[in-house]
Amino acid sequence: MVPQDEIFCCPKCGGALFSVGGALKCFAGHSYDRAKQGYVNLRLSQQSSKKRHGDDRLMVLARERFLNAGYYAPLRQKIYETVAACRPETLADAGCGEGYYTAYLEARLPKTKIAGMDISKDALKAFGRRNTAVKLALASVFDMPLRSASCDMILCVFAPDSAEEFQRVLKPQGKLLRVLPGEDHLFELKSAIYERPYKNPAPSKLLKLRLLKEETLRFQFTLKNTKEIADLFCMTPYFYKTGKADQEKTNKLSTLTVTADFCLQLYEKEEAPTL
Ligand SMILES: [Zn+2]
Repeated sequence: MVPQDEIFCCPKCGGALFSVGGALKCFAGHSYDRAKQGYVNLRLSQQSSKKRHGDDRLMVLARERFLNAGYYAPLRQKIYETVAACRPETLADAGCGEGYYTAYLEARLPKTKIAGMDISKDALKAFGRRNTAVKLALASVFDMPLRSASCDMILCVFAPDSAEEFQRVLKPQGKLLRVLPGEDHLFELKSAIYERPYKNPAPSKLLKLRLLKEETLRFQFTLKNTKEIADLFCMTPYFYKTGKADQEKTNKLSTLTVTADFCLQLYEKEEAPTL
């Protein structure tokens, strides 16, 4: 066995994991294979079902193209500045996707140990192509393979969240940066597709953690061709809820200026009440 070099713990017994050949093993004998793309499957078998897990390949590829074109670079910069100001030694990215934000943090915060988790194998395969030192696991954000009170910071960008699980994993005074769509996010895209587009609901708040600050980041960007418009549409939650006729409306557009509206919430883990 080589010394423990993983941020993750065994999802079955909570024990430390050690690299043994191509797998991670704990002292209780639980073993988890590493995929050739670099991530480790730490999902518990009873969690899996035939249902589609996370973002599928088409959506991941569209998101990879869109993000790599730089349209959300202002958000990535804002996330970096917020995380850097907290100076975390350990950071868990809950729902890291294909790693656009995570890889940027890893390149600029060499002292921070970063773990990325996602339930989409396709997203983790795409993340693997970025060749970073980020430790990656196939795992649910509702049941993270991380020890209790082991993380200085959690990042959760457009991913499902679990205040209870974040609270468990964070150290005392640990921080959570949560990024959500604002009310006007991508409104022009929705207007191009739907007869009566709705604004997004106002960003929700997590109650189990203390909100330190909430910021809005708004900017506009212009998609330059039909393919870019289709990519943005494909990575939104509306895509799979939209009929083919409405989906095809984006094919008639050659350019579209869109509002990006993000809400960034920074939370701190509450002290346990003294009895
Ligand atoms: Zn174990």
